[in-house]
Amino acid sequence: MEKRANEQDSRRGAGSVAIGGIGGLTGRTVFGAAAAPPGGAFSLTCEDGLIGPWQEGEVQLSKPYLDCSGCTLLPGFIDVHIHGSGGADMMDATRESLETISRFLVRHGVTGFYATTVTASRSATLAAVENVARYADASRSEPDGDGAVGARILGVHLEGPFISPAHPGAQNPAYVRPASTEEFEALLAAGPVRMITLAPEIPGADAIVEMALAAGVRVVLGHTGATYEQARAAIGAGVSQATHTYNAMTGLHHREPGTVGATLSDDRIYAQLISDGIHVHPAAMRILGRCKGPTRTLLISDAIRAAGMPEGRFEMGRLPVIVKDGACRLEDGTLAGSVLTLDTALRNFMSATGWPLVQAWPVTSLSQAQAMGIEREVGRIRAGARADLTMLDGEGQVVATVVGGRLAYLRDSWRLRDNEDQE
Ligand SMILES: [Zn+2]
Repeated sequence: MEKRANEQDSRRGAGSVAIGGIGGLTGRTVFGAAAAPPGGAFSLTCEDGLIGPWQEGEVQLSKPYLDCSGCTLLPGFIDVHIHGSGGADMMDATRESLETISRFLVRHGVTGFYATTVTASRSATLAAVENVARYADASRSEPDGDGAVGARILGVHLEGPFISPAHPGAQNPAYVRPASTEEFEALLAAGPVRMITLAPEIPGADAIVEMALAAGVRVVLGHTGATYEQARAAIGAGVSQATHTYNAMTGLHHREPGTVGATLSDDRIYAQLISDGIHVHPAAMRILGRCKGPTRTLLISDAIRAAGMPEGRFEMGRLPVIVKDGACRLEDGTLAGSVLTLDTALRNFMSATGWPLVQAWPVTSLSQAQAMGIEREVGRIRAGARADLTMLDGEGQVVATVVGGRLAYLRDSWRLRDNEDQE
């Protein structure tokens, strides 16, 4: 297995996807460790997909291991709001599309994601959720698959359909519909729904919030015309995130603080942010960062199938989307998702806020893990947690991504070392 990993890597060259598990990593700089690693050089073992204890110095690891010298090791990135990428959309409801997205994401440091629906017909939404359920089952029963490792699907995020007809953004207004507990129940039964973005002010939303919370599903404010008071009431009822803060919600006016005002001023709610510099001005990103801090800010991509593809015409939720100069728009100019990736999002956010990586790192991992209640498993580098790791170089570019102790992406093949080979 070890040899095969190295052979595959050298044959395919830099940027290839290597096969097989790694024994661990050695390095010097790490952020997001639950307990401070020993100063100076450290080693970290990976076993059975989990992180082992820190070890001082460069321990001889027998399996291939990753050399993180000159780089920074972080908890793997988590995207809670992503529709597609690499030409695929989760609404395609095919195994191939989920695989395409999952393999695209590891090139950008993402180790886990919530496949996000768009507002669509009942049958199309059910099909997309059922497809995720089937895919998750299949990947559990055949962990090796064809050998390539992608980001893990952590669940489904339903964006709509119970949103405000007045704030559809690029959600297809033809499919926006009143809140239905019967439909929501069917969606919950169809697959691993973990989040729902809804407008809390529409009739029947209260019942959905209650059902969702009872089922352990996170409720997210979004595509909403909620006033400040309505948003505060929703937060009081247990709504815990705002979807792409600033976009498709009531803005902050000094006498009408709106959903943005409620999100920025209430510590109980996490704020998702699309930091592509197109959806939100850098100054507004800085304000959000100051209000929410690194552990209440969730960078999201909101990426559509056009991410990672040449610019041109695409489709989202049965609406044409034109991608030009890095912006995705409907024909009427409305922004329609993004072609953002989380590594770029992090660099943009750091430059907008002026925060160094040591301060900013939670916005792509720990915040998401805490917001979703999975922080025991991911979001921190600690013994016993899943070995989901991202390695960045000094420019914030992804050098390697490890998913469950298996190398999923490697930019510089020389970093994969094997003591056995040297003997
Ligand atoms: Zn979206």
